[in-house]
Amino acid sequence: MKLTIGWLYAATMNIYGDRGNVIALRRRAEWRGIPAEVHEIGLGDPIPPDVDLFFWGGGQDQEQDAVARDMAGDKGKTLRAAVDDGAALLAVCGGYQLLGHEFRPHAAAPQPGIGLFDAVSIAGPERFIGNVVVDSQWGELVGFENHSGLTTLGPGAQPMGRVRIGRGNNGRDGTEGAIYRNAVGCYLHGSVLPKNPALADWLIARALERRHGHVELEPLPTPLEDAARESAIARAKATR
Ligand code: GLN
Repeated sequence: MKLTIGWLYAATMNIYGDRGNVIALRRRAEWRGIPAEVHEIGLGDPIPPDVDLFFWGGGQDQEQDAVARDMAGDKGKTLRAAVDDGAALLAVCGGYQLLGHEFRPHAAAPQPGIGLFDAVSIAGPERFIGNVVVDSQWGELVGFENHSGLTTLGPGAQPMGRVRIGRGNNGRDGTEGAIYRNAVGCYLHGSVLPKNPALADWLIARALERRHGHVELEPLPTPLEDAARESAIARAKATR
């Protein structure tokens, strides 16, 4: 059993510590004796057939433009097919936005998304910056948001959680992120997975199940992770 991670646009969309998510996924597999490989999938690169877990980080609006063009067409179709076939995926902020139908930046042409999530994102008048606490199926999640994009989910999408502290998808409807099969999109930078090991392990287990049937991951002690999450939640509460 091996975990193969595809890191989408590592060189062009990797801000606010998002690389920490790839490190967390790899290490939480290796701590369980599961070898993990990371393949960077950049501009012009095809989607490798053996990737079972994708990560796509955040970027600036202008970097998103080149990436949106790269992902349009067959590449996006291949990524959607992999998720429909059971691959797991985590996308944060700009990556999340381009997995919807479209992202409309300020004063620039709309960027096409691949429509994995039934969602549309439009750059809003203010930047949402701050700590976010979300109630989700993985319990309380904490992260840091920094986006102007306002994401509205359509009837075909379910949110990853409800915002307890912070703004989330759009600061209006109380939702944060989106889920489709084993794909999760969200605005939680930080990076999100080291402080939220339940979500990391869920992604690893779903990815492995694509080729190996039902997977029960051996529980790992998470004292440092829990302390980091509690500390971040306390900071979020203090800045409310
Ligand atoms: N398009 C993103 C935004 O809404 C870019 C920022 C990000 O990916 N963190 O601001």
